[in-house]
Amino acid sequence: MQDVVLIGGGLAGLVSALELARAGHAVTLVERKTYPFHKVCGEYISNEVRPYIESLGVDLDRLGAVPISRLQVSSPSGRLLESPLDLGGFGISRYTLDYELYRLCEAAGVRFLLGKTVEEVVANTVSGPKPELRHYTTVDGETLESRLVIGAFGKRSRLDKSLKREFIGRPSPYIGVKYHALMGFPDDVIALHNFQDGYCGMSAIEAGKYCICYLTTRANLRQFGNIPAMERAVLHRNPYLKQVFENATFLYDKPEVINEISFAPKRAVENHMLMAGDSAGLITPLCGNGMAMAIHGAKLASQLASQFLNGYVSRSELESRYQREWSARFARRLWVGRTVQNLFGNERLTEAAVWAFGAFRPALRGVMRQTHGAVI
Ligand SMILES: Cc1cc2nc3c(=O)[nH]c(=O)nc-3n(C[C@H](O)[C@H](O)[C@H](O)COP(=O)(O)OP(=O)(O)OC[C@H]3O[C@@H](n4cnc5c(N)ncnc54)[C@H](O)[C@@H]3O)c2cc1C
Repeated sequence: MQDVVLIGGGLAGLVSALELARAGHAVTLVERKTYPFHKVCGEYISNEVRPYIESLGVDLDRLGAVPISRLQVSSPSGRLLESPLDLGGFGISRYTLDYELYRLCEAAGVRFLLGKTVEEVVANTVSGPKPELRHYTTVDGETLESRLVIGAFGKRSRLDKSLKREFIGRPSPYIGVKYHALMGFPDDVIALHNFQDGYCGMSAIEAGKYCICYLTTRANLRQFGNIPAMERAVLHRNPYLKQVFENATFLYDKPEVINEISFAPKRAVENHMLMAGDSAGLITPLCGNGMAMAIHGAKLASQLASQFLNGYVSRSELESRYQREWSARFARRLWVGRTVQNLFGNERLTEAAVWAFGAFRPALRGVMRQTHGAVI
């Protein structure tokens, strides 16, 4: 029997696994892919978590992370707004960062089941002199028994269906598309270029490369039939995007694409599992700190889980404290992120929003503060 089974090996799963293994617990992590692999993500990480990531043993300078300190926002017609980033951040690919965390986890003794998908998790109380709740996790026909499961399986997974989570019944219109490219672009800038029904982020990552990642709607794609046609018809109407898409050297044969991205509220505890990262709630990407939240949430989940495994808190205390502390840290940010995203989409509204934020800079910096937390 394992102490903890982690489902999903993105940032939330890897950081939780690393912390728990280093605290002396027996940890198994199940990830449906095999490292290293690419992921749809803008790859800009807020400095909110830089000291913490480094404290885990990740040498960001050695990995080539690029410091980023300025923001550019353009409206669909090309009105440009620039602002310093008060907290700032850095760019590094998920390919590199997740792989580094995976290697640290291996060194810490985490047992990995890679290329395997969790199909179901059942919670049952085992009888005996001291009845205790156990989780039974089904992976490719095999069942893993553990004292605790942490669900870190990201934005959307078939497990959400089997858990009958509320958000999964509601279709979501959003899709995400990501490229790596070589291009002429300032290294210290993250740009957010808007277009009809979407926005595209771009910033430097390691090895002289850039990440270009956008969020748009399925309806936008359906209207033009395929991604290149949609990019030409819609994204290129923003002069900054046209310039980049026509001149950059794209490094993949085709982009990474995901669909059904939901920003609906979720619960942080389901079926006695602690949910971490996007499984607990995904902030709209324009805030640029989903990764920081996943890492910060994993720190919280693993600390409380370790207290539970060591017998310092009961299961009911664990669950109620985790839900409470998770909401206190992140619920408001998610709400602000959803509210701000509503300003970006409709072309006229986006033009007005970029104009208004340009005319009143403190409001923009105020929104940035509302969607970020203190450095951990
Ligand atoms: C378009 C877009 C752009 C973004 N840009 C940024 C950005 O620039 N900066 C930022 O900070 N955040 C950004 N984000 C958010 C960020 O990507 C996420 O918040 C972050 O990846 C969350 O990490 P996670 O560990 O929770 O999930 P993930 O990284 O998604 O990891 C979940 C893992 O679980 C695995 N998995 C799923 N189901 C199963 C299963 N049943 N069994 C086994 N394994 C399973 C998956 O393969 C995956 O590896 C963006 C998001 C989108 C959609």
